[in-house]
Amino acid sequence: MYDQLIEELDMTNTTLVAVSKTKPVSALQSLYDKGQRIFGENRVQELTEKSEALPDDIEWHMIGMLQKNKVKYIAPFIACIHSVDSLSLAEKIDKEAAKNDRVIDILLQIKIAKEDSKSGYDYDTLVSELPRLTALDHIRIRGVMGIGTFTSDESITVQEFSNMVNYFKALKSNDLIDYQLFNEISMGMSGDYKLAIEMGSTMVRIGSLLFGSRSYTI
Ligand SMILES: *Cc1c(COP(=O)(O)O)cnc(C)c1O
Repeated sequence: MYDQLIEELDMTNTTLVAVSKTKPVSALQSLYDKGQRIFGENRVQELTEKSEALPDDIEWHMIGMLQKNKVKYIAPFIACIHSVDSLSLAEKIDKEAAKNDRVIDILLQIKIAKEDSKSGYDYDTLVSELPRLTALDHIRIRGVMGIGTFTSDESITVQEFSNMVNYFKALKSNDLIDYQLFNEISMGMSGDYKLAIEMGSTMVRIGSLLFGSRSYTI
């Protein structure tokens, strides 16, 4: 499965974030041995434990909701945080990055699904916070992230992904944004990644398709 997926993604220059939440270190190690270097996790404790157990050249991506008081545990090593959805969280990441003498890549998570359970910025709120977000020196705003509605109705997903791409374009042309750094659209999961790539995703977050279904959902 992995080789086939990589071939498919290489053809479209799409980055694979292997979503390894709930999976044992051995499962990550076998994907690492096949060449995978980017892994995504959604819980701070699991992320730090796995990062200690696995090789240093892995790029760890935080893809889940992040509490401000836990940023300090991942700030020393995290490569990218996909789930930045408030100024206060961005400020906290900036502060912890500074303490570690680092600059941390982040994505702005924008709410595209209607369901209440999906977190993310409201787009207008995001735009109003841009002056203060872009003034932070120890984060680099690399793009946007979104989670589509979990549905078998493809027309809903198409609409949401299309909104995402429009938000990305509008932000990229905003004078406050460093457009040279702002290149990533993180959208698409196991069930909708093909559609996401067709619509302009640059980074897909794939778990169950690679590792098998998870025994519990979080
Ligand atoms: C779990 C998760 C994924 C991967 O989901 P799959 O359907 O298993 O591919 C992607 N993005 C986020 C934010 C997740 O929490």
